[in-house]
Amino acid sequence: MSRVIQVRDKQFAVSIPEEQIRKEVKRVAKEICRDYEGTQPVFLAVLNGSFIFAADLLREIDIPCEISFVRLASYQGVSTTGEIREVMGLNMDITGRPVIVLEDIVDTGLTMAHMLETLKAHNPSSIDICTLLLKPGKLQVKLDVRYCCMEIPNDFIVGYGLDYDSFGRNTKDIYTLVDK
Ligand code: 5GP
Repeated sequence: MSRVIQVRDKQFAVSIPEEQIRKEVKRVAKEICRDYEGTQPVFLAVLNGSFIFAADLLREIDIPCEISFVRLASYQGVSTTGEIREVMGLNMDITGRPVIVLEDIVDTGLTMAHMLETLKAHNPSSIDICTLLLKPGKLQVKLDVRYCCMEIPNDFIVGYGLDYDSFGRNTKDIYTLVDK
């Protein structure tokens, strides 16, 4: 397995191997199954970054549930633009349903805060955030992240669904930008 990869013009080194990702995803899936037993939750996976995480997590969920996919973006290149776009693609009725939002990574938290506000207008019975990764050092808003697989430092990462300039999503491990 290559420990350093090139994505576009940058180099990235493995920081979280696939075995560790698998272990943490399983742990969180277990917690969700325990907490949501008997409630038939709706998972809302935020595209594009969470598609691999959502696929792996869902296969560890053994209680009745639904999944749907929504889209919004606030990132370009390797630094946040601070610009938030609208939630798109919510094509099911979540009124009175417990919702679990699946996100790839919470950085400033602005995306998730905006997402929660928008979803609350659809009157779900509850909303929880489940993120693969969290950068606690970058959080700018108060956000209750109930489920988090892994906390990471402030560095820019790619792989396992996350991109750099739309490339690099197709790796099993997670990689961190190598400073040059
Ligand atoms: P936030 O609104 O929390 O600042 O940003 C959340 C979004 O920014 C994530 O859904 C993700 O798309 C993107 N993002 C934040 N940090 C990283 C990172 O280190 N790598 C990649 N590839 N995307 C990131």
